Amino acid sequence: MTGWQEIFAPVREELDNWDRCGKQARLWLRDDDAVEPTDALTRLVSISGQADVPLLLCVIPETTSNHLRNTLEAERHVRVAVHGYGHHNHAPPGEKAQELGPHRPVEDVVSQLLWSRTKLQDLYGNRLSGILVPPWNRISPGVVWHLPQLGFAGISTFGSTHEAKDVTGLDQLNTHLDIIDWKGTRGGRDPDWLANELVQLLQRSRGGDAAPIGVLAHHLVHDQLAWAFLEELFKVTAHHPAVSWQAADALIG
Ligand SMILES: [Zn+2]
Repeated sequence: MTGWQEIFAPVREELDNWDRCGKQARLWLRDDDAVEPTDALTRLVSISGQADVPLLLCVIPETTSNHLRNTLEAERHVRVAVHGYGHHNHAPPGEKAQELGPHRPVEDVVSQLLWSRTKLQDLYGNRLSGILVPPWNRISPGVVWHLPQLGFAGISTFGSTHEAKDVTGLDQLNTHLDIIDWKGTRGGRDPDWLANELVQLLQRSRGGDAAPIGVLAHHLVHDQLAWAFLEELFKVTAHHPAVSWQAADALIG
């Protein structure tokens, strides 16, 4: 691996292109699978706060409690999103994992989501995001249909999928840059690869309608490489004139 300066050089160059066009890239940060306070969560909240990067923290409702709520109380840059119900996989062996998939009656899934949203609403009040984040970034269309009536204003998955497209009153705000190498080390991805991918995402966004780019983290599995990448990313972007890190809820509706 080369040094961080070199790794991020193409990102800096691309941001200079944004600057020259008089455009501002909108980035946003999502982190999944929080249940209880941990040292890793403290670190994530701290580095994002120091960089003035708003954080959408996706919380698994079933077993979370006011321990997590109390930890986040003073962290005004953090908002919480409903991350399924219990992060249980209901897909049969050999199929991709899903909690909110078509494997159970839709009423059962919907009533668990209502319970989940109510619980987090009671814990977090107006710091609860209107965005639902399905575990494993997958959800069946039959469930999506019900989301507005459950009080959700948006859905966030990964990549170019658009589950909300036919549902009135529901926006889509996806993540695009997953910093974890799930199929390999299950730690941070190769920083050169990540920087390159980010450059491509930025170029595509700049050439189009400057759509927001979502960065996806999973604090519980971060190794040294994942932490270092995030910290360097914040260093390069947080105070760059061509970048605006935005709160997820400001990007929907
Ligand atoms: Zn998850």
